[in-house]
Amino acid sequence: MAKIRVLDRSVYELIAAGEVIERPASVIKELVENSIDAGAKHITVEIKNGGVSFMRVTDDGCGIAHDEIPAAFLRHATSKVRSAEDLNGIATLGFRGEALASVAAVARVELLTKEADEEYGSSFRIAGGEIAEHERTGCPNGTTILIRDLFYNVPARRKFLKKDVTEGNQVQGLIDRLALSNPEICFRLIRDNKTVRSTGGDGDYYSAVYAVFGKQFASSLIPVDYSSAGVEVVGYVSSPLFTRANRSMQYFFVNGRSVRSPICMAALEEGYRNSIMTGKFPACVLNLSIAPSLCDVNVSPSKTEVRFAEEKVVFDAIHFGTRNAILNADSRREIRLEKKELPKPPEETRPDRILFQRVEEALERRAADPAPCPKEEPIRSFTDERINRRKREPLFVNAPVTAYETVKNVQQRAEELPPPEPPSAPPEPPAFRYLSESSFARREKPAPSVQITEEPPVPAIRVVGELFATYIVCECGEELILIDKHAAHERIRFEQKKTKLTTASQLLAESEFVSLTAEQYSALSEHGELLREIGVEVLLQDGVRGEITAAPAAFAGDAVSPAELVIRAADLLLDGNENLVGEIYDDLLHSRACKSAVKARDVNQPEELRAIAEEVWRNEKIRFCPHGRPVMVKLSKREIEKYFGRIV
Ligand code: ADP
Ligand code: MG
Repeated sequence: MAKIRVLDRSVYELIAAGEVIERPASVIKELVENSIDAGAKHITVEIKNGGVSFMRVTDDGCGIAHDEIPAAFLRHATSKVRSAEDLNGIATLGFRGEALASVAAVARVELLTKEADEEYGSSFRIAGGEIAEHERTGCPNGTTILIRDLFYNVPARRKFLKKDVTEGNQVQGLIDRLALSNPEICFRLIRDNKTVRSTGGDGDYYSAVYAVFGKQFASSLIPVDYSSAGVEVVGYVSSPLFTRANRSMQYFFVNGRSVRSPICMAALEEGYRNSIMTGKFPACVLNLSIAPSLCDVNVSPSKTEVRFAEEKVVFDAIHFGTRNAILNADSRREIRLEKKELPKPPEETRPDRILFQRVEEALERRAADPAPCPKEEPIRSFTDERINRRKREPLFVNAPVTAYETVKNVQQRAEELPPPEPPSAPPEPPAFRYLSESSFARREKPAPSVQITEEPPVPAIRVVGELFATYIVCECGEELILIDKHAAHERIRFEQKKTKLTTASQLLAESEFVSLTAEQYSALSEHGELLREIGVEVLLQDGVRGEITAAPAAFAGDAVSPAELVIRAADLLLDGNENLVGEIYDDLLHSRACKSAVKARDVNQPEELRAIAEEVWRNEKIRFCPHGRPVMVKLSKREIEKYFGRIV
């Protein structure tokens, strides 16, 4: 074997730099964090070619004293930590004293810096770890660092850089995270001479969110403000209706530092359990405040990983904070009928115009008829003045088909009115069609029905009818409410089944064997008690196999075999998810609730619809189906009156 040698400084600097500096975004991260630690209120980041050829960070922080500049570029040189004890209470973003040394090892660095109480500042240049300039100079307060030609001396590393646009996007994502966690700082990002991000720095968290994500995302957010057991969770989570296909919009911060934490993600998603479609993910911007001594951010050199002394406490704070926020937000969505400007056909051929005229004619015929008309009030309100206003505003308030159908229905209604002679009793309003019992006959099993209590409480909600055999139309106070009968019933069933759920286990007549990977085996052997909680008894054998002797009674006769249950449990544990009862039983309940609920286009009795509507109204939990679809939408009387021009 070759002789052991101590490496040259230039070589170990390069190796060490590789740990911190991977790409332009990692340089920017270190520089901006230094600016934040220096107390800057304004930070401008400028990059060219994704940062590879040019990165400049300018701040108005405290600056660096002339004589201390060379030391700042030495490895393990920091002004932030003095002793080992200091490591327990770190409040600054940097503390390893490696960043500037690492950057200087792999790029050309220029520095201009001035402390506020000094008359002159300093100009400093260093490349490949060698100082090229260190002079007094006139410059503004604060620090500007310019980095050119990243990895100019490490071609192997340069090869691993992605396309400029990808590297630039990484920088932008990073600035977004920094802006979100520092709302009191004014950030500006200039990419190839164009300002692409600019935050107000007014200290308001919401304005930072607004600046970074734009109006649409910001306006869908629900605020979170929760604390328990010394952990404070503040920020915003997305409405259950605003889901994402992945986790890219989940931003977590611990004491202001952006972190990637599987625990935080799992806790957030637990907060959305049963409120979001499976396979969809919530978005969030959540900041956790926790005693620095209870979390370790020193896990990785880039400091994006975090370890918590008490994971359960953190998990619970995020889980309950999120859950409460979602439940408190008004989950009864308002539907908005948008006024769409549509190209108008010539006046006389417009279908709405023709139909409108027919409606008017029918109304005139009715006016000549002395028989009382129960619907007179709303119909008479189409006065000339209103019709004129209609001419100015497009009649279409929704899709043209809807407007067309609406007018057509009014016309039919007008034509269906009884003939003027002889005078007759007021006509029945057209009844909503409920099909008879016999239409349930096609089912093998008896049709599911909702339990109706003997004496229902005075209903706060009145069922008006059913639409498209799918939506229950209700009136409640000053609101029109549409309930998706399947979604609502599915959730009702889910809740009913949940209260009856037992996790008791049942001995198997014959043991079932399951093969396990090494990881699955060790996850299961560490969490025997969690398996028993879900009602599984398994004897682990030889590091490769499990003998299942008992399985949950609730799953008896289900398509999921005990072996599949054990594999599922092991995989959940490997993902760091210990909520086996929640995950495994909820899945079972979801599928059973879905199968047993009434379906869209099923035929239901009026009492069934009423029972569903009343349960939805009574039970706050029935707001989303188990897959996260909303159970109801509402339209206020005010909104309706606006569309009809009764109020402006
Ligand atoms: P660390 O941030 O871990 O202390 P760095 O290598 O990033 O290590 O920086 C070394 C030192 O240089 C810091 O401790 C700080 O004193 C000084 N420094 C770096 N950047 C700035 C800046 N923008 N403003 C003021 N001081 C700075
Ligand atoms: Mg630093």
